[in-house]
Amino acid sequence: MKPYKNKINRIRSFALSLIFIGFVIMYIGIFFREHEIIMTLFMFLGLLAILGSTGVYAWIGMLSTKAVQVVCPNCGKYTKVLGRVDMCMYCREPLTLDPTLEGQEFDEKLNRKNS
Ligand SMILES: [Zn+2]
Repeated sequence: MKPYKNKINRIRSFALSLIFIGFVIMYIGIFFREHEIIMTLFMFLGLLAILGSTGVYAWIGMLSTKAVQVVCPNCGKYTKVLGRVDMCMYCREPLTLDPTLEGQEFDEKLNRKNS
């Protein structure tokens, strides 16, 4: 089963993994100390990944301003909904801003989870 995450949380974990990948690339570069060009290349790529994640974090910040803050009907916490259908950040309750989609999008998955 494919785990479904809240969109903002998903992008955030992507940015976090990008930082991690960046550090791993830079760490690999250390093994090529004798080859200055290769080491520089790894360091550069690692730095690029870290800079990329900074960009993604800035993007999350922009998305967060566009996301609609709602009170989750299931757990009562404040969560952010991005797009027409999203999930609660805390309890993964499917939420929608479009009344016509109410109870449609995630029904199948939720039923499967319970059975
Ligand atoms: Zn909730």
